Amino acid sequence: MSETLLDEVPGKALAVYAHPDDPDISCGGTLARWAVGGSLVHVVICTSGDKGTTDPDADPELLAASRVSEAQRSAEILGVNGLHLLGHPDGELENDKALRRELVQIIREVRPEAIISPDPLAVFFGEHHYNHRDHRVVGWAALDAAAPAASSPLYFPDAGAAHQVTAAYLSGSLEPNVWVDVSSTIDRKIQAVSCHRSQLGDANEWIASALRDGAEHAGREVGVGFAEPFRRIWLAP
Ligand SMILES: [Zn+2]
Repeated sequence: MSETLLDEVPGKALAVYAHPDDPDISCGGTLARWAVGGSLVHVVICTSGDKGTTDPDADPELLAASRVSEAQRSAEILGVNGLHLLGHPDGELENDKALRRELVQIIREVRPEAIISPDPLAVFFGEHHYNHRDHRVVGWAALDAAAPAASSPLYFPDAGAAHQVTAAYLSGSLEPNVWVDVSSTIDRKIQAVSCHRSQLGDANEWIASALRDGAEHAGREVGVGFAEPFRRIWLAP
């Protein structure tokens, strides 16, 4: 495995995730660093996160509404230029033609060089945790939408002009091959994650230190203070 520190900043980047807090937790330091470096950053959130609670009496609509404002606040902190909220029901994502069409349309509008999305092959994390179904589904849907669909004009011909994404950066990967130095933006990532009050409860400080520890651990792999790891897949030569 080659250890690569990724320094270049894409002109445009599109992050595709399932739930309102996913992009911040998965790649918030990278999105903020790219935005500071001049990248135009767009974020797609596929579900409204309306089942993200342990309270049986919670109102799903109220929860979804508060999660929208949390996502808007965190996007501002990260310097996101466009937030696309698809509003699908939480826990029910399918990598079907309808979702791929929505993603293709956004890819063709934004025309990013880079997409960032979950690694769909990351399923089991140790002995106590496995990856949320929506994360696995959106991981495949984003890749399937980027290539070949978005780059091939005969796929969804009424969803914009074909666009070739250059590379996909898959977060949460068990097999990372590139690292982004987020030493300058780790605090901003933590600030963005802390916007998601509906998800954090009293765990704000615990999450902040877990995020810092995780990024510090990743940074050690490549000799920097804090990093986020990705599996990079080239989609174009
Ligand atoms: Zn999630």
